[in-house]
Amino acid sequence: MQFRDLKKQYQVLKQDMDAALTDTAASAAFIMGKPVKELEAELAAYVGVKHCVSCANGTDALTLALKTWGIGKGDAVFVPDFTFFSSAEVVSLEGATPVFVDVDKDTFNLDAADLEEKIGETVAKGELTPKVIITVDLFGLPADYPRIRKIADTYRLLILEDGAQGFGGEISGKKACGFGDISTTSFFPAKPLGCYGDGGAVFTDNDEWAALLDSYRVHGKGQFKYDNVRIGMNSRLDTLQAAVLKIKLKAFREYEVADINRAAARYTEKLQGKVKTPVVPEGYYSSWAQYTIRLDSKEQRDALQAVLKEQGIPTMVYYPTPMHDQTAYKNLKVPVGSCPVAEQLCHTVLSLPIHPYISEEDIDSVCEGILTFIAKK
Ligand SMILES: *Cc1c(COP(=O)(O)O)cnc(C)c1O
Repeated sequence: MQFRDLKKQYQVLKQDMDAALTDTAASAAFIMGKPVKELEAELAAYVGVKHCVSCANGTDALTLALKTWGIGKGDAVFVPDFTFFSSAEVVSLEGATPVFVDVDKDTFNLDAADLEEKIGETVAKGELTPKVIITVDLFGLPADYPRIRKIADTYRLLILEDGAQGFGGEISGKKACGFGDISTTSFFPAKPLGCYGDGGAVFTDNDEWAALLDSYRVHGKGQFKYDNVRIGMNSRLDTLQAAVLKIKLKAFREYEVADINRAAARYTEKLQGKVKTPVVPEGYYSSWAQYTIRLDSKEQRDALQAVLKEQGIPTMVYYPTPMHDQTAYKNLKVPVGSCPVAEQLCHTVLSLPIHPYISEEDIDSVCEGILTFIAKK
């Protein structure tokens, strides 16, 4: 059994995919070829925002946003304590300081109450200027934007939506990657919408920021490529990846998101009441980058993972370490116990195999493995 079956997906899309790959090779327009602009237009339309600027990966997408806003030394950026390292790494790379915020135990996303507390503490200390909230749509579920937007307005902060895992999610019909003042996503192969290597994109409704993003991604270009008006990056999306994504986006919107939601519903139906199943709040829609259950303790989680592994069932621990506990962030000296939920989740979460092509038989055998383990407890 595969954790995320990308080979199966290729087999389904093979005919169109092979044609797209060879067409790109034959065109020799490897950098900024026609499919790049076409994909950007399709992605912007899908999300429902004015501008999409593609780039080399999801980490660069976040960096491009921070550069566009001029975030740097002395600035505080609020980041969930339970996420992939990138979400905070980009902040430090720009010379700003990440302030870690606890998450909600049910949705795994930024806890709005703790966010307000951490903003208050930062203001009271007076060492850093609060500037940005990086929200993460973890495991495919949009963050609590109704509450976070109110807090951002109150404290005059910008929202940078890290939608690397969230592409395809929704709140009341509004699509993820449209909730931030700037939003980003990643096309790393295992993300909800993945390419055949690295890729990313930035979304915004703001014309001025879109122009800056476009400049920063190509060496801070001005009027033309050899007119350089600011220090930028080399962060373009390959034509080949854009061609791949155009085909994958079609499958994604036509059936993949619906199919993965059917798979998640089947898991929940079978596991509910036996282990803690993921919570999707009323009006929310997830694109299920992960299907993540919670166990009672680290011992139980680790034992279950070992038992499933023996049965040939791959599972993953996303994430084993809270951000504030990462070796790279020891220098921040975050007080012990400042993000208790994130710590608890790192000990108890387990992500199960899920993808749009998973069979009902596979889901059932994963569930059987879990239910047998729980019954023996
Ligand atoms: C994957 C991921 C990123 C980074 O994306 P890359 O394309 O790998 O650079 C950033 N944030 C989150 C939450 C992610 O899951």
